[in-house]
Amino acid sequence: MAEYSAWQVLKNAVTGNAGWRPAWRKPEPKPSYDVVIVGGGGHGLATAYYLAANHGFTNVAVCEKGWLGSGNIGRNTTIVRSNYLLEGNTPFYEHSMKLWENLSHELNYNVMFSQRGIINLCHTPAQMDEAARRGNAMRLFGVDARMVMPDELAKRVPGLDLSQNARFPVLGGLEQPRAGTARHDAVAWGYARAADRRGVDILENCEVIGFLRDGDRVTGVKTTRGEIRARKVAVCVAGSTGRVMKLAGIDRLPIESHVLQAFVSESLKPMIDTVVTFGGGHLYISQSDKGGLVFGGDIDGYNSYAQRGNLPIVEDVMSEVVALFPAAAKVRLLRSWGGIMDMTMDGSPIITTGPLPGMYLNCGWCYGGFKATPASGWCFAHTIARNEPHPLSAAFTLDRFHRGHVIDEKGQGSFPWRH
Ligand SMILES: Cc1cc2nc3c(=O)[nH]c(=O)nc-3n(C[C@H](O)[C@H](O)[C@H](O)COP(=O)(O)OP(=O)(O)OC[C@H]3O[C@@H](n4cnc5c(N)ncnc54)[C@H](O)[C@@H]3O)c2cc1C
Repeated sequence: MAEYSAWQVLKNAVTGNAGWRPAWRKPEPKPSYDVVIVGGGGHGLATAYYLAANHGFTNVAVCEKGWLGSGNIGRNTTIVRSNYLLEGNTPFYEHSMKLWENLSHELNYNVMFSQRGIINLCHTPAQMDEAARRGNAMRLFGVDARMVMPDELAKRVPGLDLSQNARFPVLGGLEQPRAGTARHDAVAWGYARAADRRGVDILENCEVIGFLRDGDRVTGVKTTRGEIRARKVAVCVAGSTGRVMKLAGIDRLPIESHVLQAFVSESLKPMIDTVVTFGGGHLYISQSDKGGLVFGGDIDGYNSYAQRGNLPIVEDVMSEVVALFPAAAKVRLLRSWGGIMDMTMDGSPIITTGPLPGMYLNCGWCYGGFKATPASGWCFAHTIARNEPHPLSAAFTLDRFHRGHVIDEKGQGSFPWRH
């Protein structure tokens, strides 16, 4: 398969782009594999890639019920950061950040990683204290963080309403300068291509509709393209976790599914060159390379598997955009869409062996799984290959809900819809 390089771009430019080949194969399913991964989203594909790259597993299949990029990997607002507070989280997300920093090179695929920074705005003295504490904790873990004050914000984010008349006057913010955005669907395609090159079979339009069992042990999957046996079956289906695990007879998990909507405006001249989050409400906003404002708000407050949102949230999010950036009132909204979030009770993810023998589970990413994609794949591959947690994801095992050692990053108790 051809490498992507400046030379290839040049050569194809003058030969009618006839030299490009499909980025990944479309193989028929084999009767058995060493590992079958259910779910060809970012996490499933990254897991397949690191299984091959880090652990030498190449007899691997990824079963995706639709097409690559049809799930949350292609629906998110593309924010990448590692500005966490707790010990269970920060080293994991910082590992992800380090993988992001070399990802285009590693995959030989441009994932358009842009380290434009993220600024979490604060509107009360208590929020300023919390931001300073978080920033200090990050720096103790070796992660970049700095406080920004309104005079600097006025220069960095010129459209931001910094007046005292604002509904939530801005007192300052916490910045992680190395944070930013990446091109979400390119991440899926980059991992898919890189996994395919190492022999992984990516089986699109291959929905898992049941599990093969030998007693308690999971020994394969039933799919719309036939039965496939496997020594190990890894479930990585994000918002569909409850439904897929039910096929294996697991009907109780500490997870709820909710819709999260995202929005993009018409293209504008550059007006925000960083990512801004609104601590007084629940809004995050950045500007895409095409010029559209990309933003999202809170999840819908009820459980749903519908990949579409509702109007009250649209109104709520728009009012927050206008409160922060009054000039945006004149901007037209181009489109909105929804994705299904698998919200855990403590707002932190699950990367674990089990819950059945032969099975491995990766889920519960709530709002924040895109940024985690590289580290999630890295650690889940380790868990599958070695039958034990990776040290960086050791806090994310399922048994934390039995032990009471939850990772409650927000310190708000079990309110999954708040995380
Ligand atoms: C609107 C929105 C904004 C977001 N913004 C951000 C953000 O800015 N930053 C951030 O870090 N995170 C963000 N997230 C969260 C992030 O996108 C998700 O946590 C993450 O993408 C989930 O992992 P994934 O990519 O593997 O999921 P998915 O891409 O959803 O992959 C799961 C796959 O499993 C497949 N599947 C389901 N059932 C089956 C089956 N039975 N058989 C086979 N395949 C099956 C699905 O088709 C899907 O492709 C956002 C999410 C949404 C919806």
